[in-house]
Amino acid sequence: MKMHCRSIRPVLSALGGAFLLAFLTAAPVHPQSNRERRFAARVSPDQLQRVVRQLVHFGNRLGGTGSGDRSAASVQRALRSFGLKTTVEEDDALPVYTIDDWSLTVQEPRRLRGLIQYAALAGFSPTTPVHSARLVLLPSADDVGSVRVDSQAVLFDGEVTESLCSDLANAGARALVAYRTLPSAAYTQGAMITMLPARTDNPLPVFDISNTAGERLRKELGAHTPVRIRFSAHTRFATGRPRTVIGTVRGTSGREMIVCAHGDADSGGPGADDNASGVAAVLELARTLGGMVNRRELPRPAVTIRFVVWGSEIHSTRSYIRRHADEMDSLVGVINFDEVGYGKTRNCLYAEGNDVEVNRDLLTTFQQVFEAYAGKPGFWKEATTNPSQGGTDSYVFQGREMRRLGVHAEEMPSITVFTDAWNTVRSLPQTRGWRSPVWHGHPDSVAIDYSPYYHSTLDIPRLTTDKEPSNMLWAVKATGCVLLRTAWAAPTER
Ligand SMILES: [Zn+2]
Repeated sequence: MKMHCRSIRPVLSALGGAFLLAFLTAAPVHPQSNRERRFAARVSPDQLQRVVRQLVHFGNRLGGTGSGDRSAASVQRALRSFGLKTTVEEDDALPVYTIDDWSLTVQEPRRLRGLIQYAALAGFSPTTPVHSARLVLLPSADDVGSVRVDSQAVLFDGEVTESLCSDLANAGARALVAYRTLPSAAYTQGAMITMLPARTDNPLPVFDISNTAGERLRKELGAHTPVRIRFSAHTRFATGRPRTVIGTVRGTSGREMIVCAHGDADSGGPGADDNASGVAAVLELARTLGGMVNRRELPRPAVTIRFVVWGSEIHSTRSYIRRHADEMDSLVGVINFDEVGYGKTRNCLYAEGNDVEVNRDLLTTFQQVFEAYAGKPGFWKEATTNPSQGGTDSYVFQGREMRRLGVHAEEMPSITVFTDAWNTVRSLPQTRGWRSPVWHGHPDSVAIDYSPYYHSTLDIPRLTTDKEPSNMLWAVKATGCVLLRTAWAAPTER
């Protein structure tokens, strides 16, 4: 999920979609069918964890970079090995950066030399030769004029903005060392990774550190300890074309569904939960359901299913819609995974957004599956639908967003499945009529679980997906059961 993505308001539309809705309308409450049980038994937590580790091994997987290309190639190999027909599509070009090398250490006082760990260089930081500078504290963004920063490095707790960087650079600062303290347990060890504007002339390098290290340095500076740091950065900029990988299980009609996840760690970090977990979920559904079709344990679905891994979150989705504008009318639904690998405070499976009318039938099917299996061995204990939060690929398929891209297609359900989002718990008022009997919190609100490693240097398998592999397992099982009740259901005639 993208924290700073323009917020996308849900589009409430009663227009159109009657046929599409009929297509995805939930059957009356299913008993848990043998087909669903057979599918669920095939979902492998080991396989899911293995895929996440492999993906993280490729680096940040940013679309249009070597890391992104290697990751896309491995996703294609995996889909092919499951017997799916695959294609790789190049998306529109975008500016990309590659970090070859960087360093940040405390030089003085010597006792703090090992202080900075799990730090990061912000995306699109400029190349900076090895440099040594005194560290000064900037108490707030409004203090740029009142603190002497000329030839110094600046320590700052807060959000790094473009204007802060340019004000500091104009005042002669050489580097910004940033951290974020939040009321949640986020970033005590790892650093929240900053992304500077996507251009080649950002005025100074930004180094992100943990708030433990940040608070320690702040304390030392407050006690007038002279602190010197040494830093460097070697980066490259280019334009690149993200590669989006598509694996297809062909259906018996001309209708299509997309089951997708963004393949990049959009923060530029390791991105195990955000979003190698989502990619692993897509691949596991392709492996299990695709395999069952190939072995004729399942008939062909009524709807063609496209398993899609986007090269670059939101950017690739927009490219895809423009490229496939003529086919958008045959698309009857989108199920997106974004962060299905962890959750700090509860073990809940979520699907959003239930405040969008056109999502009603698909999310009703999710809710029925949530209730049918809650508490059964190998399934979730807690699950709910929730209102829209925006900031992920499913929202690009909303009618208004598509029209913004010049594409006029029927409204269709487009939802996101997840187990955590953002870096602190968010409480949302539940949409009327969507109380989940298997939600254990306050009945009229939904607490969205979070990850303390969101967009951080420590969003790594050991701390997220390997710790709670059941999260991915649940997302795959719930979505697979929903697909069996929708894409495999007999199409309704108009
Ligand atoms: Zn994400």
